[in-house]
Amino acid sequence: MDQVRPAAPQLQGVEPYDPKYIPADVMISANENPSDVPLEIRREIEHAVRKVKLNRYPDPLANDLRDMIAEANGLDRDQVLVGNGGDELLFDMALAWGGPGRKFLNVPPTFSVYAYNARILNTEVVEVPRRDDYSIDVDAVCDRLAQGDIDYAIFCSPNNPTGNLLTGAEIDRILKASDALVMVDEAYFEFSRSTVRPSLTRHENLIILRTFSKAFSLAGVRMGYLLGSERVLREFKKVRLPYSVDAVSQAVARVVYANRAQFETGIEQIIEQRARVIDGLGALQGVKVFPSSANYVLFRLPADIDAAQVWQRLLDAGVLVRDFSRTPSLENCLRVSIGSPEENTRFLTTLKGILT
Ligand SMILES: *Cc1c(COP(=O)(O)O)cnc(C)c1O
Repeated sequence: MDQVRPAAPQLQGVEPYDPKYIPADVMISANENPSDVPLEIRREIEHAVRKVKLNRYPDPLANDLRDMIAEANGLDRDQVLVGNGGDELLFDMALAWGGPGRKFLNVPPTFSVYAYNARILNTEVVEVPRRDDYSIDVDAVCDRLAQGDIDYAIFCSPNNPTGNLLTGAEIDRILKASDALVMVDEAYFEFSRSTVRPSLTRHENLIILRTFSKAFSLAGVRMGYLLGSERVLREFKKVRLPYSVDAVSQAVARVVYANRAQFETGIEQIIEQRARVIDGLGALQGVKVFPSSANYVLFRLPADIDAAQVWQRLLDAGVLVRDFSRTPSLENCLRVSIGSPEENTRFLTTLKGILT
């Protein structure tokens, strides 16, 4: 055959997800941890990886790691599920709760992967836009949920890319309004020190997503996890790839999780540096900075300056940030991840040079 028939119709017009991850001197575009895993822990990892039997399939559910995460969160093993990065679990949610004839409630602007997954799985996306300050319009969300046709919803807190939090009172109102499965994506909760975990005991329709990629410096390894009810996670197990979390990643993650207290200093430094970056951006003429509880900061450039051009000039100077200027409601906005103190200085000086 010299031809191939078209892919599924919902893929027509879809652009493959592209994070624009371009090599640069200063990589502050993907919200990674600026520090790699501390040397002492790396040695322990090397030792653990050496013991992995590469000829054997991994434990499909990573039970040892699940037990550690469950214990730390006051839950049972069956209330924890691990995935190949948080991304896999987001996809599993779209598989298990979405599909043709089903509806996903989204609150843009937020992590674009949510709507992307829904779209490629033929799920209708219902949008309840955030307010101008990017807070969630909880009344509008509850009203929409009360119609009874939403199958699942995702709320990112702190929200990526805007940085703001959803409060416990807000999530409780949302959870009461519906039996839809509601995920709170807490990929950055270590930097906000705020979690909706207390609501888990009250609401079976809540699940919480976390990741090792940000606070725990493991973006290269791919490990994420869900906290939720046994009944809900059982449905996830039906759609997940049986061996998606490989044995090496399991071994690495166990060592890192056991040593997670050692990441505290780094997290504190990022929180301090975040305040510095916010101040530095705020001091630039006409730049609007949005408050952030995460390890990144969203800012809007003055209307007479083209953010896409500034993004390019930063890159030309060796500094890679994320351009959101073509995303609806994020017009002329860039997002900068908090790097090391030196990287943050270089970002602020370079940007100042471009704008003045
Ligand atoms: C980084 C991130 C994740 C998870 O990323 P993984 O590297 O796949 O674990 C999930 N949600 C949001 C909003 C993120 O920014």
